[in-house]
Amino acid sequence: MIRVRFAPSPTGPIHLGNARTALFNWLFARHNGGVFILRIEDTDVTRSDPRYTQLIMDDLRWLGMDWQEGPDAGGPYGPYVQSQRLSTYQDFAEKLLEEGKAYPCYCTQSELEERRKAALARGRPPRYDNRCRNLSEAEKKALESQGRRPSLRFLIPPGEKLAFEDMIRGRCEFNLSVLGDFVIMKADGTPSFHMAVVVDDALMRITHVIRGEDHLSNTPLHILLFEALGFPRPHYAHLPMIAGEEGDPLSKRAGAFSIQDYKGWGYLPEALVNYMLLLGWSPGQKQEKLTLAEAVERFDVRHVSKSPAHFDPKKLDWLAEKYLRQADSERLIELIVPLLPEEAKKVERPRLKALVEAVRPGLANLSQVVKESEWFFKEPVLDEGQITALSSDKPRAVLAQVLEALEGQEESFIKEYNKFIKQLAEKGGLAPKEVMMPLRLALTGSTHGPELVAVISLLGHEGCKRRLKKLLTQIGQLNKNEINLLKET
Ligand code: GLU
Repeated sequence: MIRVRFAPSPTGPIHLGNARTALFNWLFARHNGGVFILRIEDTDVTRSDPRYTQLIMDDLRWLGMDWQEGPDAGGPYGPYVQSQRLSTYQDFAEKLLEEGKAYPCYCTQSELEERRKAALARGRPPRYDNRCRNLSEAEKKALESQGRRPSLRFLIPPGEKLAFEDMIRGRCEFNLSVLGDFVIMKADGTPSFHMAVVVDDALMRITHVIRGEDHLSNTPLHILLFEALGFPRPHYAHLPMIAGEEGDPLSKRAGAFSIQDYKGWGYLPEALVNYMLLLGWSPGQKQEKLTLAEAVERFDVRHVSKSPAHFDPKKLDWLAEKYLRQADSERLIELIVPLLPEEAKKVERPRLKALVEAVRPGLANLSQVVKESEWFFKEPVLDEGQITALSSDKPRAVLAQVLEALEGQEESFIKEYNKFIKQLAEKGGLAPKEVMMPLRLALTGSTHGPELVAVISLLGHEGCKRRLKKLLTQIGQLNKNEINLLKET
């Protein structure tokens, strides 16, 4: 049975990169009828916070992932939170110590740091020099009597090379002689990252470890530990890093945001998931838009690329626009209402629906929909330049005539809208644009936005008249005919 895990540290909200690791594990499990496990790696107590555990679970669920074993789901190999497994790590460390595969190290943090700096200054690799490997019992006692509490180090066994077959990168070889003995238990009795990962992967029967390439250099240490503990090693797949637009590692500056951020901006989860699928994996057949179900069907971790995946926010928006355009509008309304200003929440559902449908083309997320809908909820306030532009003869005449038509034709105006615009343009010797631009500006305060006919229909007769009257009054210097038009009916 295939068993994989996503093992985040709850030190902050998850970013796109971590979420992609979770997704590829989930897909691998689903595709192979395996088990996907969530394990919380919170041994770094100073940086971990249970609030983030909850947030990580919420984010994964929001993206459409579920797990068969985990902190909340339980399972046969729990607990699935490392801070609740400390005695297990201690037992295995004890075993390694007894078998001579580990030894106590009395070096303090500051001593190690000093030596590290000195090695770097001499151009040497800053690895541990194994100095506590062969301490006699008397030396240990002496160090302990100074009040030093030992950490436990794993003794790298003699040997030249260690190799393993990575499912993405192929054969990976490491030179063991460059490694220093590494810490498996810290002086405070908590396990190091390496120890906790290996013990848990072994006890949780993890068959495939799929994780970021940043862990590649840890893998030889983990394999050595598996062997020393007498457990079979899992298969490994190291996912390519995600690089920003300039090719540098993805950072906040390069557009790496948390799933919470994307959720807050109103990206649809299916769009985000689809985008993450393309970060290193290609579904083939030049297809880019695909559902999670299609991805489950086709996912093969061996087809993940080993070169860095490029994060392209424009591509994300391109996909997100497609998902937003096709999303059920009732669902969008549910999502959008909490984002709307208070007064807007009173608008009846059918009008909101029409508004969302008119505004969404070309937009990637719901915050943009809200922003592009502002004109509907609030009468626009034009700036001086816009007022000046509308004050010249032609646009003013256009606006006055539209107002006149609205006064006279009532409901039929919308139906006759195209004809009316055409006639108005012909009559004044204007291009249709010269009619539509001032009208759009007057009604929405902007030169772009949804179809003008949709704007007029959404604002309704009364709404359009109110806005046009207000604007024409503001422009001032109206002729008599215009003044008549502005009289309250
Ligand atoms: N807790 C590690 C991290 O967040 C993951 C370790 C692993 O996948 O082996 O990077």
